[in-house]
Amino acid sequence: MTKRILVAGSGFAGMWAAISAARAVAIAGREQDIEVTIVSPSANLTVRPRLYEAVLENMNPDIAPLLEAVDVRHVAGLVQTIDAGAHRIEVERVDGTRTRLPYDKFVLATGSRLFQPPVPGLPEYSFNVDQLASARALDAHLKSLADRPETVARNTVVVAGGGFTGIETAAEMPERLRAVLGSAAAVRVIVVEQASHIGPDLGPTPRPVIEEALAECGVETITGAAVAAISADGVVLSSGERIATNTVVWTAGARANPLAAQIEGEHDRFGRVVGDAFLRAGAVEDVFVTGDVVRAATDDLGNVTAMSCQHAMSLGRVAGHNAAAELVGLPLHPYSQPKYVTCLDLGPWGALFTEGWDRQVRLTRETGKAVKREINTQWIYPPAADRNAAFAIANPDHVIVP
Ligand SMILES: Cc1cc2nc3c(=O)[nH]c(=O)nc-3n(C[C@H](O)[C@H](O)[C@H](O)COP(=O)(O)OP(=O)(O)OC[C@H]3O[C@@H](n4cnc5c(N)ncnc54)[C@H](O)[C@@H]3O)c2cc1C
Repeated sequence: MTKRILVAGSGFAGMWAAISAARAVAIAGREQDIEVTIVSPSANLTVRPRLYEAVLENMNPDIAPLLEAVDVRHVAGLVQTIDAGAHRIEVERVDGTRTRLPYDKFVLATGSRLFQPPVPGLPEYSFNVDQLASARALDAHLKSLADRPETVARNTVVVAGGGFTGIETAAEMPERLRAVLGSAAAVRVIVVEQASHIGPDLGPTPRPVIEEALAECGVETITGAAVAAISADGVVLSSGERIATNTVVWTAGARANPLAAQIEGEHDRFGRVVGDAFLRAGAVEDVFVTGDVVRAATDDLGNVTAMSCQHAMSLGRVAGHNAAAELVGLPLHPYSQPKYVTCLDLGPWGALFTEGWDRQVRLTRETGKAVKREINTQWIYPPAADRNAAFAIANPDHVIVP
């Protein structure tokens, strides 16, 4: 009887999980009786790490030919419920019909979404760069500012949150605004960060470089205050300060996709399932968790995965391989990713490339930017629709870092 590996999500983790599972099935010569299927809204991979960029081109590559080349099926829909006891999921297909799909192994790879706390005005008046549709909405809004009369609010962008995404979004913004409003416009871009420093999760080592770069890009920062209320023409900060603006970009962190809450067992404060060394969800049988929905140890030193593309791509390969390996009797592969780098885009200043969890500065300005360009245009993109080439880099040992 045919056995089924179901992967929910076609992002970085889901795509690599499916290819890696198909590779293990092929190694075992079991293509005839094991099917690998991805369920996601469409057979595309959204390149979320680039959604802060000014030009939103090639952000959603079609992976249907790749999936076909590696014998992975695709069902267009959203997983609604996971019934781990019955080994099946319920899916709402894009045409609105519902279907139940049984599985022998299930891989949850549905990613994360922007954390939106109950700040008054946040849903109605803020923009974000979390998903392609919202990044496009921000882009359309910025372009529409040119049709408005000149005011301080029109010329000002507030970026709420001074973490990785907030910094990258803000650094691009002065040039992006001037491209719309004209080079003579008195534009203001202000990052508001509630911690006492910009980039609180990036640690103290790279901070002077980030502060220098933001200042050079013409970005102001306000720290130690949070955006407390948002309206069509301004924000009020927790300090009581009011800033006139028609554009608020909300970037304050991410939470695991809500489906993670349906998996029994321990979760972390971001809603991620705590995975074991093989990325199994410890409390339920035959369920693997990967990408932004899993919290996993990256080494023996206490470091854990970040919600990052860098980790998602490796986590995906390992989870997909292990899901298939359990079915076909291949050895399981423990997840480990001791090398950690970051590459922070800092707009016209360049980019900051760091190594290690303490983020030692290795490359800055144009040399850093060259690495960022390579990451953003090559390394994170899907491989060509070539079975052998895809399988060659789908093994669970393969790590893409500079
Ligand atoms: C602006 C921005 C900048 C970033 N910059 C960086 C960076 O510089 N470096 C870095 O490493 N990371 C960066 N990240 C983080 C990175 O994008 C994520 O960590 C990565 O996308 C996680 O991959 P994933 O496959 O787990 O999830 P995702 O890429 O989010 O993919 C999730 C998939 O699941 C699908 N899905 C969702 N719900 C369902 C459902 N119910 N049923 C079926 N399918 C579903 C989605 O359609 C999608 O296909 C950035 C993110 C953003 C938003």
